[in-house]
Amino acid sequence: MGAVRILVSNDDGIFSPGLQALAEVASEFAEVRIVAPDVEQSSMSHAITGTRPLSYRKTKIAAFEAYRVNGTPADCVALGISQLGPVDRVLSGVNLGHNIGHAIWHSGTVAAAKQAALLGVPAIAFSAPPWEEPMDFGPIKAGVNATLKSVLAGPPHPLLNVNFPAVPRGVRWTRQSFRHYDGRMVPGEDPSGRRHFWFTVVPIEQVEEGTDRWAVNQGYVSITPLRLDLTDERALQAAQRDSRPPA
Ligand code: MN
Repeated sequence: MGAVRILVSNDDGIFSPGLQALAEVASEFAEVRIVAPDVEQSSMSHAITGTRPLSYRKTKIAAFEAYRVNGTPADCVALGISQLGPVDRVLSGVNLGHNIGHAIWHSGTVAAAKQAALLGVPAIAFSAPPWEEPMDFGPIKAGVNATLKSVLAGPPHPLLNVNFPAVPRGVRWTRQSFRHYDGRMVPGEDPSGRRHFWFTVVPIEQVEEGTDRWAVNQGYVSITPLRLDLTDERALQAAQRDSRPPA
């Protein structure tokens, strides 16, 4: 088997220190290429660009071959896989801000990994606490290293969502926290007196044990296997059971 090839992307933009940290750890395991958005694309979820052409420019991130794309995280992964040759894994992040619970729906970080999974390439999304000055990437890089070591040794899971606490004290496999959501529109005013709004998401309920949010709150690295099939199996079975055959 030849060298493992890893494509690294993110949604914070190609110059994010989180992306460089991830590429540095990934390069201990594989040949790394970076394809990431030229500007920040956080909360873009799984948007793709269909109304204008995409292009990329070669650039350097530390010692890495890198390409910055005028598109979304999902665009970057699709373009990277199609134009730079096949890869064995896609890693996304490290996002500076957690992607747990319902934030997964909004996340561009998770969407980059999800795009890879849709194309049949196993992928992992990594997220850490929000940016702080000074930011210590030591514990995060150690966490990425430990995660990659264990995940790359096992059978490839199509899509994993990993969140780090500031200082990890262990690892927990978790489910997505479900009840925490309060998408609020907070009004404000611009300098000309015009009303504007910030869409903010505030956790509102008790943390459920065994979830991603619970693990990170307890100081554990959270690893959640995600799936691409959104079908509600129970509702489907109930509907099929209760429905009358067509007359
Ligand atoms: Mn982000």
